Amino acid sequence: MWAVTAAALQRVVLPNCCVVCEQLVDSQHPDELICGVCRSRFQLLARGCDRCGQPLPTVGPCRFCPEWPPVVQSARSAVWLSHEVREVVHHFKYDDYPGLAVLIADVMYRTIARPAAGGLVPIPLGRRKTRLRGYNQALLIARELGRLWTLPVYEEALFRARETTTQTALTPDARLANVATAFSAVHAAERCAVLVDDVLTTGATLRAAAVTLGNAGWRRITAVTFARALPFELRALAS
Ligand SMILES: [Zn+2]
Ligand SMILES: [Zn+2]
Repeated sequence: MWAVTAAALQRVVLPNCCVVCEQLVDSQHPDELICGVCRSRFQLLARGCDRCGQPLPTVGPCRFCPEWPPVVQSARSAVWLSHEVREVVHHFKYDDYPGLAVLIADVMYRTIARPAAGGLVPIPLGRRKTRLRGYNQALLIARELGRLWTLPVYEEALFRARETTTQTALTPDARLANVATAFSAVHAAERCAVLVDDVLTTGATLRAAAVTLGNAGWRRITAVTFARALPFELRALAS
């Protein structure tokens, strides 16, 4: 608690330092939380699979999304989870930097095509985690993106039916089992949903959330995330 307060106070009284490299940011942009050098190192995803957005292997079809349930129509991510992006996400989630939602949504807005229709549905956080963190990072991103894309945000559409353990150390199959019954959704006949989350790793959370929405009558479910795990990290998880 004290650490959070001290960090918040420091940001008020001192000029901003980049959350990645800790160098002072350009005084022309005093609200920036990341310096131009670190931002320039963000790596955009190249065009890939029409459905999941993952860059395709040199031969053959996509290996990332064939097992996704049919209800998930497409998923897009702005940048790879490189060192700089991982630092941004970490500070955003665990270090009381809600303002990073503005940067994150801006990067997504510039790199991901605006969904033609529907409303944004943030991946919900359990009550305990929301209390600990003070905010749901996916909700903050969705609010900023909704403003930029002029799309509604359905903040209460999806909620956690139960708390889940953190996914970080789990294999892909264990991740799926961990989140399979985690969500509940309010019923919405024929409404389109664009799921919003900070990071797409194996897609387990997105799949579970999309199936829940689909069962509650939502249609055309797509997803957007700020970052996507690098392929070698996925291979490490699977082994
Ligand atoms: Zn920096
Ligand atoms: Zn795919």
